[in-house]
Amino acid sequence: MPSTTKTICIDGQWRAGAQGQTIDVHAPSNGEKIAMLARGTQTDIDDAVGSARKAFDDVWSKTTAGERSRLLSALSARITDCAAELAEIEAQDTGKPMRLAKNDIATTARYFEFFAGAADKLQGDTIALLNGYQAMVNREPRGVVGHIIPWNYPAQMFGRTVAACLAAGNTTVFKPAEDACLSVIRMTELAHEVGIPAGVLNLVTGLGHEAGAALASHHDIDYMSFTGSPEVGTEIQKAAAAHHTPCALELGGKSPQIVFEDADFDRALPVIVAAIIQNTGQTCSAGSRVLIQRSIYDRFVTALARRISALKVGSHLADLDCGPLISAKQLARVQGFIERAHADGVPCIAKGSLDPSADSRGHYVEPMLFGPVDTQHELAQHEVFGPILAAIVFDDEQHAIEIANDTPFGLIAGIWTENGGRQMRVAKQVRAGQVYINGYGAGGGVELPFGGVKRSGYGRSKGFEALREYTVGKTIVINHG
Ligand code: NAP
Ligand code: MG
Repeated sequence: MPSTTKTICIDGQWRAGAQGQTIDVHAPSNGEKIAMLARGTQTDIDDAVGSARKAFDDVWSKTTAGERSRLLSALSARITDCAAELAEIEAQDTGKPMRLAKNDIATTARYFEFFAGAADKLQGDTIALLNGYQAMVNREPRGVVGHIIPWNYPAQMFGRTVAACLAAGNTTVFKPAEDACLSVIRMTELAHEVGIPAGVLNLVTGLGHEAGAALASHHDIDYMSFTGSPEVGTEIQKAAAAHHTPCALELGGKSPQIVFEDADFDRALPVIVAAIIQNTGQTCSAGSRVLIQRSIYDRFVTALARRISALKVGSHLADLDCGPLISAKQLARVQGFIERAHADGVPCIAKGSLDPSADSRGHYVEPMLFGPVDTQHELAQHEVFGPILAAIVFDDEQHAIEIANDTPFGLIAGIWTENGGRQMRVAKQVRAGQVYINGYGAGGGVELPFGGVKRSGYGRSKGFEALREYTVGKTIVINHG
């Protein structure tokens, strides 16, 4: 945990907020105060962007891809060395069960490893043109990139965005969420320890409507990357539009798991449960709708209910199926969905249980399965961001596709069937950025391009496509005669 409130890092120097204000950080498992953050404002963002610009012009844009690769590799190794400490920080700060926090830190190290390896393999194109000409397209870094991330996976999102961004030769100003950013502070220290030059990675802790808004509206940002709610995504785009700053937005989903009558129940059930309870449902790609063919609906829902009823919720240290939600605000939001579902008469089929040792000041909610849910009900349309699964009935393949596509979102989808032709037909017709067949969210997906369509946002992170996202093509034509 940071022992001071100097949690802003600009040009390699740690400092308090320019206005001297602070933010208290509380542990979601028991509500106790665990740290204080600097509350950065416009002045801090101005300084951070200035530092990132200077580091881009003077240092990072002149660093070879091989050197960037070595530095990112060193950071990956350092994160792995400190994995136990980082996992403890992440679990306490977010409330997530320890084993999930450990997995998140391992994935974060893997992001730096992957993008370290990719940094010097990014290639441009040559284009056949007229006789006497040579045409090429170079991939160049965008310049100074602004990052705003949410509180659900602070470490992983730091890895996913910063590793790709720096590998491609950009410098950055990073604004995490005040609800959970302690692992990001520690990893920013580690980045400087391994020799990432001052000014390449600047961190400004603070509130969204202050530091966040100042960053998104800054005139000297070349590219803005945002992950969070659709509402704030709109604000980011409006702010960026004033300077025609391009954006990438990852705004969550209402992702379907489609279970056909020939599905292998034993394969599908644990994955479908994990996809809704992971991180207590606070996951953009949570599989929050399970679409079940009518002929197997009762049988499948009964088996699903048995598993949901067995789930346990408790403190991050108890390391159960679910931890607490991040904050009292999120708990109230999720409880609102539950109360309205009850009031609307939506049947609650199963509910997990709270561990008796859970602290009454923690933000706990039990996982729940509702169904059958009408396709237009808010449980089938809105992102709850809690461990609430909506079961929906469909009749045939076409009906399943219609329901799957009938939300404003399009992030990911799971298809459960042994029929090969159906697997491909449905995968092609579901509107989503990623589709999994007989699986879901395989292996953390560091290598797999990720991002949405429709209201889930645009732009791609992860995999090689992230490097393209963080670069821009420059066409150069030589008339050599
Ligand atoms: P949020 O408000 O969108 O927060 C995401 C990030 O944006 C945070 O760093 C936040 O800062 C910042 N921010 C807030 N207002 C801003 C503004 N006007 N300008 C610039 N940055 C701003 O999300 P939330 O309130 O924490 O969560 C609300 C709902 O959003 C959730 O229930 C969930 O449905 C959805 N959500 C989705 C994802 C996802 O991964 N897709 C992640 C989080 C939330 P501060 O936190 O410091 O204020
Ligand atoms: Mg916290």
